[in-house]
Amino acid sequence: MRLSRFFLPLLKETPAEAQIVSHRLMLRTGMIRQEAAGIYAWLPLGFKVLKKIEKIVQEEMQRAGAIELLMPTLQLADLWRESGRYEDYGQEMLRIKDRHEREMLYGPTNEEMITEIFRGTVKTYKDLPLNLFHVQWKFRDEQRPRFGVMRGREFLMKDAYSFDIDEAAARRSYNRMFVAYLNTFARMGLKAVPMRADTGPIGGDLSHEFIILADTGESAVFCHKDLVDMPAPGTDVDWDDLQHIFEERTSLYAATEEMHDADAFAKVPEDKQLSARGIEVGHIFYFGEKYSKPMRAVVNGPDGDITVHMGSYGIGVSRLLGAIIEASHDDNGIIWPESVAPFDCAVINLRVGDAGCDAACEEAYAALQKAGRDVLYHDGDDRPGAKFASMDLIGIPHQLIIGPKGLADGNVELKNRATGERQVLPLAAALAQLTGA
Ligand code: ATP
Ligand code: MG
Repeated sequence: MRLSRFFLPLLKETPAEAQIVSHRLMLRTGMIRQEAAGIYAWLPLGFKVLKKIEKIVQEEMQRAGAIELLMPTLQLADLWRESGRYEDYGQEMLRIKDRHEREMLYGPTNEEMITEIFRGTVKTYKDLPLNLFHVQWKFRDEQRPRFGVMRGREFLMKDAYSFDIDEAAARRSYNRMFVAYLNTFARMGLKAVPMRADTGPIGGDLSHEFIILADTGESAVFCHKDLVDMPAPGTDVDWDDLQHIFEERTSLYAATEEMHDADAFAKVPEDKQLSARGIEVGHIFYFGEKYSKPMRAVVNGPDGDITVHMGSYGIGVSRLLGAIIEASHDDNGIIWPESVAPFDCAVINLRVGDAGCDAACEEAYAALQKAGRDVLYHDGDDRPGAKFASMDLIGIPHQLIIGPKGLADGNVELKNRATGERQVLPLAAALAQLTGA
């Protein structure tokens, strides 16, 4: 992408309304634009990152055996009356009437709808286990939308729903999501700690929140320090036997404020006690027959009818952009992990109009594209300092800097955004590094 043909409306001023660094940086880099309280337009740079995060989430869901579908944003109120949640959900639910005065709502979550789909289509226990997921916009009329995409009213969520014949099978499904979540967040460069959590309005008895530690997090959390640096289990696991991984990760103390037990926490060795703030990026629940019973989601079993056991598993896809920036930035801007960076690399032309610089930049741009790199070519005519600042601000991991001085010696400069490391080397050598050739 040539910057001259891209749409990157950077802001010079730091927006006054933004209280936390991720919100400030997302506005300054032109990733998002607020259209109403808690409702954002995703501008090209932000949309690219959102899509990359979504793709990682989809891949790890599929690897764990979940199958993707897409449910609508609008739902019938009557469906929610079946579970009893239409009245319970309160003011967070956006209620709408269509032209026939039919009561509808903009879905804040999809347990009812997926249960309706299941009961209308699945008849036999032989089709279980089943895990269906989608990535869809949700609306919750939050009392205090704030911190940009962290607590929006309209936000993108991945939600998965599992169906099993009994509790033991449902716990296996739960464990699959548990491991998939650890791998998902690790791929985005995040250290997410699973913590015992309150089940809230969704209800049920087994639940973990996945928390990123950050001073700006909205929740107070308490955990054993060793959990923070425990590496993700990885994908080379036996997906039918994950109980030992679940136990390894849940035997150490970790709880959100609602579930915190000060006496149990006091038994953690003092130098291992961590009490901090955190951002909830995912939440998994096992809730048994909470929806399947009132909504009659029943399959034929070998010895008669079985009411299915369900779980639901959410990831805040749009919130993750904020969480990643909170975890990875410096005074100059965002430091994107390579896996979610909007561009893999930037080519920075220090003197546009100089024949030698233009030719070298065009060569680099073409070669990187040919190698499949997502590359941003800074072909604008601002001063070098402004070019460096903007590429650092938007956090491009690898920056290939090409200027007349270096070229006179046959060299270019290759800068790593995360480490700050700079190498001076011939263009061909720089391209070989960037393309892995
Ligand atoms: P919170 O406690 O932060 O209000 P929640 O527990 O109500 O969230 P869940 O119903 O568990 O949220 O939703 C699944 C995931 O969706 C959460 O883990 C979070 O990452 C994300 N999420 C929830 N509410 C919002 C919001 N208002 N804006 C952005 N992401 C959200
Ligand atoms: Mg939650």
